[in-house]
Amino acid sequence: MSYGNMEEVRKEEVEDNTDIIMEGALIARDRVGVQDFVLLDSHTSEAAFLNNLRKRYQENLIYTYIGTLLVSVNPYKELDIYTVTQMQLYRGVNFFELPPHLYAIADNAYRVMCSEYNNHFILISGESGAGKTEASKKILQYYAVTCPTTEQLQVVRDRLLLSNPVLEAFGNAKTLRNDNSSRFGKYMDIQFDFKGRCAKVFSINDKNDWKIVRKAFSIIDFTEKDLEHLFGIVASVLHLGNIQFEEDSNGHAIIRNGTQIKWISKLLGVHLSILQEALTHRKIEARSEEVLSPLNVDLAFYARDAVAKAIYGRTFTWLVNKINGSLANKDSTRKTVIGLLDIYGFEVLDTNSFEQFCINYCNEKLQQLLIEMTLKAEQEEYEMEGIEWEPIPYFNNKIICDLVEQKHKGIISILDEECLRPGEATDLSFLEKLEEKVGDHAHFVTRKLADQKTRKSIDWVDFRLLHYAGEVTYCAVGFLEKNNDLLYRNLKEVLCNSKNGIVRECFLLSELDSRRRPETVATQFKNSLMSLIEILMSKEPSYVRCIKPNENKEPGKFDDCLIRHQVKYLGLMEHLRVRRAGFAYRRKYEHFLQRYKSLCPATWPHWHGPAAEGVERLIKHIGYKPEEYKLGRTKIFIRFPKTLFATEDAFEIRK
Ligand code: ADP
Ligand code: MG
Repeated sequence: MSYGNMEEVRKEEVEDNTDIIMEGALIARDRVGVQDFVLLDSHTSEAAFLNNLRKRYQENLIYTYIGTLLVSVNPYKELDIYTVTQMQLYRGVNFFELPPHLYAIADNAYRVMCSEYNNHFILISGESGAGKTEASKKILQYYAVTCPTTEQLQVVRDRLLLSNPVLEAFGNAKTLRNDNSSRFGKYMDIQFDFKGRCAKVFSINDKNDWKIVRKAFSIIDFTEKDLEHLFGIVASVLHLGNIQFEEDSNGHAIIRNGTQIKWISKLLGVHLSILQEALTHRKIEARSEEVLSPLNVDLAFYARDAVAKAIYGRTFTWLVNKINGSLANKDSTRKTVIGLLDIYGFEVLDTNSFEQFCINYCNEKLQQLLIEMTLKAEQEEYEMEGIEWEPIPYFNNKIICDLVEQKHKGIISILDEECLRPGEATDLSFLEKLEEKVGDHAHFVTRKLADQKTRKSIDWVDFRLLHYAGEVTYCAVGFLEKNNDLLYRNLKEVLCNSKNGIVRECFLLSELDSRRRPETVATQFKNSLMSLIEILMSKEPSYVRCIKPNENKEPGKFDDCLIRHQVKYLGLMEHLRVRRAGFAYRRKYEHFLQRYKSLCPATWPHWHGPAAEGVERLIKHIGYKPEEYKLGRTKIFIRFPKTLFATEDAFEIRK
């Protein structure tokens, strides 16, 4: 079935009966595979999972459900499934009645929010190039087109859509894997109010060019002065990258060429001589006296990079805050929110360092959230339906989150402690501390411990974590340095006194208070992750998992090996297991009866009693065994897909 003729089906169903046709669409198992992985055999192997994904991908069916989670495979070509007609097709229709689509996720989120006054978030994950940013844009477009709106809200939505090019221009860097890769997690709230009216359609130009960025800035309340300061910062960071140092006769660093540094001092609004001095010296406090100690060339380069990173990083945070502020729907009294989270996926490179450690920790936490919330939702449904909860084993990754984040005992704490011993601690002493403190943890391995735990070889500077998604070997080299916020004090001083307003907002004088120890990078990361999780916990979740089909951006090419990895890293098999911890299939009595009533003389052609009783008669007649199903208050729960398929086959023959 193609998406094209879904529209035909939809038209037909207006006069006919929705459920019969749509249930058929859901359960169809021909060459297009199943639309929901829970309908694969109970002990689904990875191979069967991939098979289903491949079949569908080859038919341009890039979306498949696992229950309410949407799996998406990047088509790397334009598909005809994002038209306004398609958007309208999904509007207000029940989740399972149409083929899987981002629009179904978006629409469901909106409806849950409206009916239950609940907050909702859509979490989009996947590796670089898998289609996360595209997906979040498509969801925004869906809301822009289909949601009732007041002019005020239109403004908010315009801002949201336009903030995308702004953040992309700043937050993205061309990486090996993706031309337009997000190096930051983006969390946006779309705020709605309920007194909306009439939908206005507007088009979004996808070209992420300078003109759009400029326009975007003006719409999100940036003044000319802001812009001047902002571009000044970008230019100064570029100039900083070009600064070269050479050695003087004493072995001290001096700046090689005076032109760049003059520009930087102008752009940042700081004194030239003070900046020059700060880049080549370090201020040390000795017996309540400040001493300027010259840097050697290596340290000067190091200081240069640290200052460039700090300026850019903090400006980016400033930008995100500014955009968030301008997005706030200030007039609305009651606000409900749909959050969209587009975040870097689990990352495994040839050499994995501190950055991968942070990214993978983040993914570990989000997986934990998903497990908790899925189980919670299942449990609640069973309770509501009056069905007993029968737990089935699955892997809970909380143990790995604890290994990383536990106070005093976790890897981040151990790293922070080592960072408190400047001059003494090294990456190797950090590694030794890890062995000493978490060496017996089931998910931690170093070379010293490798023999007992794993046969795979491991280098002596490495440690390995057994993540939920698989093993990742991290190289400990550089962990200490990257974790320390090593911006020399005198460089901070220079920036605190900058005439550039944004720089001054980013580097507050209070930071110079030497009694306060600056938070380490890992701890900052951990804290912002914790507050994100807290926000997410208070909302209703929807999940989109994006998969990159091949490394060459080639349409139609399904690279089995690459995709198998992602299925693993995205925790999809785990999710399927959690999702199926109880029952593969559940449907309202009315829907179930409507579809299969022709299989039983007592219910055909009409059943006049309560639907629940009709279903009971029906399944008795076709011979369901007690262990195959449970009857809830409003729904029938079927444990195994094969039971459902047998019924479906009987129905097909009957037709
Ligand atoms: P990510 O944000 O996950 O790193 P992107 O969303 O930037 O990846 O997607 C990378 C590229 O893949 C896009 O620039 C686009 O060319 C293509 N792409 C992604 N999703 C789709 C889609 N649904 N339809 C068509 N092309 C897509
Ligand atoms: Mg992206």
